Amino acid sequence: MEFVGENGKLTGVKVAETEFVDGKRLPKAGTERIIPADLVFLSLGFTGPERAGITEQVSAEFDGRGNVARDGYYMTNTEGIFVAGDAGRGQSLIVWAIAEGRACAAAVDKFLMGSTILPAPVAPTDRAMAVL
Ligand SMILES: Cc1cc2nc3c(=O)[nH]c(=O)nc-3n(C[C@H](O)[C@H](O)[C@H](O)COP(=O)(O)OP(=O)(O)OC[C@H]3O[C@@H](n4cnc5c(N)ncnc54)[C@H](O)[C@@H]3O)c2cc1C
Repeated sequence: MEFVGENGKLTGVKVAETEFVDGKRLPKAGTERIIPADLVFLSLGFTGPERAGITEQVSAEFDGRGNVARDGYYMTNTEGIFVAGDAGRGQSLIVWAIAEGRACAAAVDKFLMGSTILPAPVAPTDRAMAVL
């Protein structure tokens, strides 16, 4: 997205459809258009976990979509540091965060104790199914 203006005054906003190329969301060629506007509100939801703070302190790596990278057991690249919910999955739903929290607890239990009897309802790679 790009603002368009004349003489320091906003006249529109340039938008385009996007597509993933090598894990990055990029404008799709040929879909650019300008929407005339004299006022633009940006209403962004979850745009990924913050890079500063805890993630920086534990030297967390990020995946191609800007979320904290993790293995199949919710562990980040730093041994003993786990991530669940939106920070690892990306913007999602509460039911996923709850299920991931439980599965992550099981993964932590197994990491600490060698085995676990805790339920792991979802894997980090599970995705919702579309019902048509
Ligand atoms: C506007 C909006 C509406 C939504 N509506 C719905 C809906 O109707 N239904 C639905 O299912 N989902 C909805 N969601 C999505 C849902 O809220 C999230 O998927 C869910 O809350 C993710 O849970 P989480 O525990 O992973 O992360 P969060 O709920 O974001 O919890 C992360 C917590 O970590 C804390 N935190 C962050 N950094 C630090 C730090 N450095 N130190 C200590 N604490 C820290 C934050 O303050 C926060 O409390 C909505 C989201 C938004 C933004």
